[in-house]
Amino acid sequence: MDKFTHCPLCYEELLVVETTPCISCGSSKTSLKILKQDIEENFSHDSINYSIYRAFEKFEVMLCNICTLDFTSVASEFFRFKKEKTINPSDFQFLKIIKNPAIGKDKFCPSCNMRLAYLLFIEKTREINPR
Ligand SMILES: [Zn+2]
Ligand SMILES: [Zn+2]
Repeated sequence: MDKFTHCPLCYEELLVVETTPCISCGSSKTSLKILKQDIEENFSHDSINYSIYRAFEKFEVMLCNICTLDFTSVASEFFRFKKEKTINPSDFQFLKIIKNPAIGKDKFCPSCNMRLAYLLFIEKTREINPR
């Protein structure tokens, strides 16, 4: 875990929480419950899967198959892309699936309701899209 103690976007103090590999929904209670159950059951049935993607041709991020689809509903302006740009599944290039995903820890901003890995991804994307 990195040295951050405060949220890079809103400067709220960060908490430490359990997470799945997904940077987007990784701290949600539902995703944690599903992954814990999958680990217990030795991934014996189809469930959420986690993969590494190259986002916007620049950043490697870990996402679950559900959040990858959800990204298309995120306003591109949130990442400071131009208004005309729509976020497409092709903005996330599949690199490889994560075998045996495990529960980890990350910091979490209670105000933004996002984990640090996602906040840093937003921050880095905004940096390549200066206003
Ligand atoms: Zn997810
Ligand atoms: Zn925040």
